[in-house]
Amino acid sequence: MKAALYYGADKGLVIGEKDKPTPGENDVLVRIKCASLCHSDLRIIDGQQAPPTVPIVPGHEATGYVDDVGSNVTDVSTGDAVGMFLYYGFCGSCSACDATPMACPQGSIQGFTADGYFAEYAVVDRRSIVKLPAGMDVVSAAPIFCAGLTAFHAVSKCNLKKGDYIGIVGVGGIGHLALQYAAKMGLKPIAIDTDNSRLAHAGELGAVGIVNATDPDFREKVHEITKGGAAATCVCSAALQAYASAVQTLKPGGLLMVVGLPEGSLPIPALPIAMGLLRVQGASSGRPDEMEACISFSHQHNIVPRVEQHNLEDLPELVERMHKGQFDGRMVVVF
Ligand SMILES: [Zn+2]
Ligand SMILES: [Zn+2]
Repeated sequence: MKAALYYGADKGLVIGEKDKPTPGENDVLVRIKCASLCHSDLRIIDGQQAPPTVPIVPGHEATGYVDDVGSNVTDVSTGDAVGMFLYYGFCGSCSACDATPMACPQGSIQGFTADGYFAEYAVVDRRSIVKLPAGMDVVSAAPIFCAGLTAFHAVSKCNLKKGDYIGIVGVGGIGHLALQYAAKMGLKPIAIDTDNSRLAHAGELGAVGIVNATDPDFREKVHEITKGGAAATCVCSAALQAYASAVQTLKPGGLLMVVGLPEGSLPIPALPIAMGLLRVQGASSGRPDEMEACISFSHQHNIVPRVEQHNLEDLPELVERMHKGQFDGRMVVVF
């Protein structure tokens, strides 16, 4: 089968051939239809995180069709349209699994410590599979299985009341979905970014206010729109400056939701946290048992990721564009 293969720092990312994998007894073999490029794929492709063996197939958010199932899998069948999460072989009962299967010593993570989804086929843990609701578009649904889950959890875990203002800092891959989820949950999202071309779409995605974070009156503008500050702000950008901007958007006692992952530590002041003027929490793509709620909400409320479709051969070029920030929404590979 055709696959993207990362060989390590010297040889990098190559489009090549690999044997089609066979599912174990608790696995599903999926014929990939769409795999999307996520910022965290760069951890492997850029060599920040060494995979246990090379070559490894990167990619961890995808959709496709069931091609074959293991002997213990009885609730999905050949031809079903499915979306995939990234946790494989976790025990499901240790203290790490209670927090996140990412930390389970028995498990592996597809696209990082096991082969992922930039390939024609992939073996996936049954527990990491959700059947797509009838009528859901198989291509545009792919980014929901990481960016969408993250955006959904970031917004829903703020626990806001309908009508509350919520800041969304960074309206790229995760943020453009967070705007849609927030609007459909009855919140009033404010889109914040440093790039006017990204902000140009924010109104269509449900933003009730749009502010460029480089505006000298940034804080005043956000506080005017939100009548005294947002109840919560989700930082969906990996830029350190995005965190500094986000702190300025909040009302007293507001919640800073940590989503984007800059290298190093966050520039967050301690005093307001100690005084109860600033609360800090985080959200991620979550656990496999949390997927279903997000997928059905996404289908019911017509949350559609903006996708730019490419062939597998384009992947090295898409990685370059992601480095330069030259993309909008999600760049995806369609098989
Ligand atoms: Zn991801
Ligand atoms: Zn475990």
